[in-house]
Amino acid sequence: MFALVDGNNFYVSCERAFRPSLIGRPVVVLSNNDGCAIARSNEAKDLGIKMGAPYFQIKHLEITAGLVALSANFALYGDMSERMMSLAAGLGPEQEIYSIDESFISLAGVRDVTRRAWAVRERIARGVGIPCGIGIGPTKTLAKLANAIAKDAERKPGSYPAHLARVCNLAEMPPRELQTLFEQMHVGDVWGIGRRISNQLNVAGIANVWQLTQADLGTIRRRWSVVLERTVRELRGESCIAMEEAPPPKKMIACTRSFGHPVEDLAPLIEAVSEYASRAAEKLRRQGGLAGQVQVFAHTSPFRPGPRYSRSVIVPLVRPSADTSLIARSAIEGIKRIYEPGFELIKAGVILLDICDGSVQQNELALGDAFRDRSALYGALDKINTRYGRGTLHLAATGMNAGGARWGMRQERRTPHYTTNIEDIPVARC
Ligand SMILES: [Mg+2]
Repeated sequence: MFALVDGNNFYVSCERAFRPSLIGRPVVVLSNNDGCAIARSNEAKDLGIKMGAPYFQIKHLEITAGLVALSANFALYGDMSERMMSLAAGLGPEQEIYSIDESFISLAGVRDVTRRAWAVRERIARGVGIPCGIGIGPTKTLAKLANAIAKDAERKPGSYPAHLARVCNLAEMPPRELQTLFEQMHVGDVWGIGRRISNQLNVAGIANVWQLTQADLGTIRRRWSVVLERTVRELRGESCIAMEEAPPPKKMIACTRSFGHPVEDLAPLIEAVSEYASRAAEKLRRQGGLAGQVQVFAHTSPFRPGPRYSRSVIVPLVRPSADTSLIARSAIEGIKRIYEPGFELIKAGVILLDICDGSVQQNELALGDAFRDRSALYGALDKINTRYGRGTLHLAATGMNAGGARWGMRQERRTPHYTTNIEDIPVARC
């Protein structure tokens, strides 16, 4: 048995936890540089705002419909996510964190599952302030489907029976009821079935989930794939997808950003690239890896008029490393090599390639001071930045007003870092 615990409209719910005045109002959270909507409250969904809608197209709703648009506050969301995950983990013996707001919990040996799920939901709502939907089923695919039912039943009363709202356990449902439910659901609602396959299934006369569970496995495998066959088996209650407790280490780590304003000069470009290199190196150290090569790129906007520019270069490191200053130095060397004046650059990035596991490091002759092992230094730097906020300690090359002047992200509507910055802790006045 599995449960899927999922925060409702997660980014919006994080904002509401600290600003209750946002409850009941249409709220969207915008992507980097306040580009487009990446999270919507139910009220915003009801206004017809689509996922990914560009801000300039919905801006008028601020006046006509009381829409509140906020810049993404990822420091807040990341921290709230950790708090939510630690409470969700209490539901069963194993947890797989699937995304910032979703985790699978294996329920092996857990008794009284539905009642416990309600209790965990209540604990998360009270302790973290995030409303969750919990779906339960004999397989991960069914838990995911149950979660979709739990959320829709709550958001759109009448779409599903009311007792399935918020916590939905498919495992304890009578077969007749389950069939009626599955007949109501579109194949595109199933985890792992995208629009293309869902269209193909429709053409083949398989429109709802019930029809999919009745389909012939051999035909599904032959006409589609073993992956879809596995999905059908899972829908029938045969568990094929196991828990993955730790995600596999990444083979490539990228930090790329669009600038808040176009950049023409080399100096701010060097600052930006140093910052991205620092971030990428931090991620690399977190997974205990070493990078062999550093790729740097920069380009102009493909949409704006004016001369176009897009270049990238790979700078190999003398030996695999996770040292911020070595990686940043290579990135700076790279950007200097490809830089040309006269272009309005809107994006740059640093990508770490050729990543290997830090524990299989090769021994070699001492190569002098430049290769001093500074892992203790960076261990301390990472700890300080985790505790006191990103950028507390940073390379001087990233500039003194980190993310400042021109290349920094545009985030005009960001709320405070309520939970991760001591200056931003909300104060209650009596
Ligand atoms: Mg969610």
